This record gives sequence, structure tokens and C-alpha cells, in this order.
Amino acid sequence: MKAKVIEMLNRRGVSLDEIASIVQSLQSPYNDDLKFAECLYSVERVLEKREVQYIILTGLALDIEAEEGRLEPPIQGIIADDEPLYGVDETLAMGIATIYGTIGLTSFGYLDKCKEGLLGRLNNHEGGKVNTFLDDIVAGIASAASARIAHARRTQLRDEEEGDVDETAGGKGFTG
Ligand code: MG
Repeated sequence: MKAKVIEMLNRRGVSLDEIASIVQSLQSPYNDDLKFAECLYSVERVLEKREVQYIILTGLALDIEAEEGRLEPPIQGIIADDEPLYGVDETLAMGIATIYGTIGLTSFGYLDKCKEGLLGRLNNHEGGKVNTFLDDIVAGIASAASARIAHARRTQLRDEEEGDVDETAGGKGFTG
């Protein structure tokens, strides 16, 4: 199912490289030696989670149905027009952002506000596209991948301080 999810994201105009670039910009203030490959690896790990895959499939299905005018009113207009008070797109994507704990919410809120680069492009709905769910899904994936890196670094630092090599000391909510 991971391959299907990646294919759908690509078809909707989003590459994993672009998501990894957002992760790198989120994490680089804390790790200046953070490699792009590490960010891309983290995005891949997020996309392996079943809960994340279900959210992506659900959100993209709604974008596509609305783009093709196949939903019933009033939800057709609400999703097609990206109605600002709707909020279900953000609520759904928060399920991705918090997959490694609530630390992911800080980045998610930041990305929702700044909408730079890829996120700005998706939010503009260029060419009649409906990306109501997609922009939040991308922000959710980037936030989770960023949180995963932050957890891994913190665990590494703590283990170094304590001389502890216990691999289960990943902290609550960190499952991979
Ligand atoms: Mg949205």
C-alpha cells in the first residue's frame, strides 16, 4: 500500500524529495549537519505506517471526487472552494503530524501559517486542481518526519550522556 500512496502523491504533483526538503528546512536550525538523505529516509518511514496511509488515501480521494464534481452539495462546494471554516482537512492531517507524539504539532502549525514553496503552490489550487486535503497532508507528513528526527536525535544525545545503549529508550510515542 505504501507504493500506491507514493504513486497517488506523485500523481497529485507531490514528490517525496519535495517533502524531504521541507523536513530539512524544519530541522536544520537544530542540526546543521542533517543530510537530505536522512530527511528522505524519515519521510519514507512515516509513509510505512498504516494509519498514515489510510489518512492520505481518504484525503486524496475527497480532493479527487470534489475536483471531478462527484460529491453532493453542500460538501462538494465546501471542499472544491477550500472553505476556510471547514477545518476537517487540518483535523485529518493532524493524525499524521502527531504519529510520533504532539511534538509534531508545532511544525504543523508553523507550516499551516507560512505555506511556503510547495505548500504555497498547493494552496493556490493552480489549474482548477482541488488540493484542500493535499496541502495539509504534505504538512502532516513533513511534521511527522521532522518529529521522528528530533526524537531520534534526543534519544541519541541522552544515551550518550547516560552511557546508555538501551534501544528501547525511545520515549513514549516513538515507534520507529
Ligand atoms: Mg487545506
